[in-house]
Amino acid sequence: MKFPKIVRENNNRIIAFPTNTKEVSNIVKFSKKNGLNIIPLGGETNRVDGTKPDKKSKNIFISFSKMKKILEIDTDNLIMTVESGVTLQKIQQKSLSKNLFFPVNIAPSDKCTIGGNISTNVGGLQTLKYGNIEDHINGLEVVMSDGTVLNFLSKLKKDNFGPKLWKIFCGSEGIFGIITKANLNLKPKNKYKTTYFLELRNLDKTILLFKRLRNAFYDHLTSFEIIFPIPSSILLNQKSNFHLIVEMHSNEKNKFQKPLKDIFQKYLAKIIKIENNIKNSWIWKKREELVHIQKDLKYNHKFDISLPLSHWKNFISKTNKFIKTNKQFSPYFFGHLGDGNLHCNFKVENENEKDIKLLSKYIYELTLSLNGSIAAEHGLGQKKNMLLKRYKSKKYYNFLINFKKYLDPNKNLGVNKLFKS
Ligand SMILES: Cc1cc2nc3c(=O)[nH]c(=O)nc-3n(C[C@H](O)[C@H](O)[C@H](O)COP(=O)(O)OP(=O)(O)OC[C@H]3O[C@@H](n4cnc5c(N)ncnc54)[C@H](O)[C@@H]3O)c2cc1C
Repeated sequence: MKFPKIVRENNNRIIAFPTNTKEVSNIVKFSKKNGLNIIPLGGETNRVDGTKPDKKSKNIFISFSKMKKILEIDTDNLIMTVESGVTLQKIQQKSLSKNLFFPVNIAPSDKCTIGGNISTNVGGLQTLKYGNIEDHINGLEVVMSDGTVLNFLSKLKKDNFGPKLWKIFCGSEGIFGIITKANLNLKPKNKYKTTYFLELRNLDKTILLFKRLRNAFYDHLTSFEIIFPIPSSILLNQKSNFHLIVEMHSNEKNKFQKPLKDIFQKYLAKIIKIENNIKNSWIWKKREELVHIQKDLKYNHKFDISLPLSHWKNFISKTNKFIKTNKQFSPYFFGHLGDGNLHCNFKVENENEKDIKLLSKYIYELTLSLNGSIAAEHGLGQKKNMLLKRYKSKKYYNFLINFKKYLDPNKNLGVNKLFKS
């Protein structure tokens, strides 16, 4: 097979490096003709094997590393138009330089790309106030599996002239089409940001505190993160309780300082640190460290679940009982309590296959029985491609399979991603 000029071999992978949408379209047509499985590449930071080759297919990767231009910042309409390969960090920095703000943030923002972020429908550290990335998109440009380019880019807030079909590409991990451009909604930047690092004795009080803050400061409360006693004690190297990160955005300096102090006192939350408009935040750095420690200490069994707030206590007390009778499982829990997303991760003694299955079954079934989700923000990729068939309704599953067949009849986009092909 003779590859087009923009294709190179790199680390045993066949990768196309298009510089524009037309070249993406041409490479998709070429792949269709030659029966290749297409895997778009952003910053490859996903955690679910979304950019791994499929073992049984001939794979071609499409890198967006040469499509990383910010095409326009329209300050009248508060819209930024970008190519797929732009990093999230560049988008944030460019917005701030215009006194604007793109309200999506995750730890690897310097590596991940907007195409990858939209394809995984990123949530992140401010989902509590701002929602997932799909809430900040104003249309996409997409290349379909036959090479057709669909331009859904828009600058309109109100536009019901047909359904917003581009929404299906948010969170579909590249299996419905390939995103080449996006229109992003920006917001005026808030002047002040205050971050609190708190210590609290128990989960009951934590949930009550969250509800109280939500009621009092709904428009300003952007993050409410929880760290359980383990890993808190490892992170801080001391015997530890629960720790919380609470962040508020506002346009008035010290607006909440006094009322917040009173509320924290009432719920027995001890203030460990306060940061005002700090660029290199100690608090958020600690939050990032959690992920690295988890990896180093081999808490390898990760569950990215979300639960209605009303079921958190129930989930935790049942899981604590389960761990008490199954001592081979050591927990490492943290998460975005404000939006319901809990990263409940475990180390399994001896990495025994039977125990791993027991643990997965337990967490998945308990989460679903409490009306939760077993894939909250990291997606499914190839790592979790068995879950939809196992746990979604037959009607949902069949609809998805038929929908995919319609969009990608020759199965060129993401073999074995999301579900087994
Ligand atoms: C330390 C860390 C913290 C994280 N924290 C969060 C968090 O707080 N919240 C959260 O939601 N997620 C989080 N994530 C996961 C996050 O969803 C992904 O890492 C990120 O969005 C992927 O972007 P990427 O550019 O690296 O995409 P990649 O990893 O390269 O790709 C992701 C998926 O999208 C597909 N894809 C990539 N580009 C395109 C395109 N242009 N068109 C179609 N499909 C495409 C890929 O084939 C793949 O399936 C975290 C990850 C890490 C490593």
